[in-house]
Amino acid sequence: MKRREVLKSLVLLPMAGTLLTKCENSSRHNVQKVRQEGPALHWDSFVMDGHVHVMSRQLLHNIDIGQRLTDGHVDLPRAIEGGLDAMFFSVYTPEEYYPGRFETKNTLRVLQLGIDQIKKNDAVIEIALNASDIERINRKGKIAAFLDLEGAFDLEGDILVLRALYTMGLRCLQLTAHNTTTSFIDSCSDAAVWGGINDLGRDIIREMNDLGMVINVAHASMDAIIQTVEASRHPITYTHGGFRGIVDVPRCLSDEAAKAIAAKGGVIGIQFGSAFNNPKFHEWRLQGRTPSNTQRRASSPPVFNLPLNEQNNTIAKVDEHLKPQMPMVFTGTMPDDIWMSADQLARVIDYGVNLVGEDYIALGSDFEGWPELPRDIRDMRDYPQITTELIKLGYSEQRIRKILGLNWLRVIREVTGG
Ligand SMILES: [Zn+2]
Repeated sequence: MKRREVLKSLVLLPMAGTLLTKCENSSRHNVQKVRQEGPALHWDSFVMDGHVHVMSRQLLHNIDIGQRLTDGHVDLPRAIEGGLDAMFFSVYTPEEYYPGRFETKNTLRVLQLGIDQIKKNDAVIEIALNASDIERINRKGKIAAFLDLEGAFDLEGDILVLRALYTMGLRCLQLTAHNTTTSFIDSCSDAAVWGGINDLGRDIIREMNDLGMVINVAHASMDAIIQTVEASRHPITYTHGGFRGIVDVPRCLSDEAAKAIAAKGGVIGIQFGSAFNNPKFHEWRLQGRTPSNTQRRASSPPVFNLPLNEQNNTIAKVDEHLKPQMPMVFTGTMPDDIWMSADQLARVIDYGVNLVGEDYIALGSDFEGWPELPRDIRDMRDYPQITTELIKLGYSEQRIRKILGLNWLRVIREVTGG
C-alpha cells in the first residue's frame, strides 16, 4: 500500500491536469508489475543505496529529479519502482572544476539544487539528517535522502567550508577530491604526496567526528584508508567500489584495507560496474581490445591536475564542456561473453562477506557515475535483481536485509548519534 500512495503523490507533481489520470494509471501499473516480479523479501526489506549520482545532469540540463526519463539511470519514479527506501543522495564536483578553483562554488550550487529539488518533490522524498529521520520518512512511505558529496568541498580543506556544508544538511563527505590528491589526503588514482593523510587530514576527520558526519574513503589510497580508520573515533565508509581480490585495480580495496574498515565497524558499498567487479572485463581491457572511448570511461578518468586554459577559466565554460557527457552512463560496448550479470555482483558481495563479515557489506551502485552495469540491471528499477541473486546464494533473510540496507542504517546511526 505504501508505495502506491507514494506513487500517487509523485505523479501529481510534474503533470498538467489533463494528463494526470492517464499517467497515474500507467505508472501504477508499472509499479505493480515490478512488485509481482521481484522477490517478496525485497519489497519487505529496507533498501538503501550508498552512492547515487544526482544533480549533475539535473543542473546542466535543467531537469527535475521527479521527472521520469527514458535514458540514464536515476529519477524518482524509477527509484520507487526498484523498491528503494533511502539513498546517499550524492552530489558531485568533478576534476574539471578544479583548475579555475570553482570547486566550492559548484559544491554549493549542486547541494542547494538537491535541497530545492527534494523540497519540490516532498510528497515522495525528504532529507534525512540521521538514522531516526530515515526511519521516520520511510514510515510515511517516502524515500529518505542522505546528503552526500563526491569530489572537493575545498581543495585546501577549509574546515569552515566543511561546517557550512554541514549547516546546509550535508551528512557524508568523501575525503579525497574524487580521483585527486588534495592538501590533506592521497587519492588512489593520483600522486601519493602525503603517504596517506597529514595533520590537516586528521583535523578534518576530528571535525567530522565532532559534527557527526559520515566519512567516505572511496577513491582514497590504501595507506590513506588505513590511516583514516586509525584517526577516526567513528566507523568510516567506503561507499562504492570493489575488491582487489576480484579485480586488481587501484580503485578497489586491498583485503587489508577492507578488514581495517570492518574492524572499526565501517561499511563497504559494492559498486555495480564491470571495471571493479568483473575479472573477464578487466582481462579483456588489459589485452587492449577495448575501443578507446570504452577504455577512457571504464578506467578512472585521467582528468586530474588539469591545466588552467581558455577552455576552463570560467565555470560556464566548464559547464558547457561537461554538458554533453550527461547522463554519466557507460556508452561503450563489450563482447557478449564478457558482459556480466547480477549473479557476478552477488559473488563479489559473497567475497566481501567471507572476508569481513555480513555486517559490513552493502550496496553502492554508482548509478549515473559511469558504471558498466550488468546486463540484467538497466537502472534503479532493477534493485530486486540483487535480492534475487542473494537468495540464490542461499543467504538467510537477515543477512540479505543487512546487505540491502540495514548495514548503512546501522553505521549512519553510530556516526550521527541519532
Ligand atoms: Zn566515485
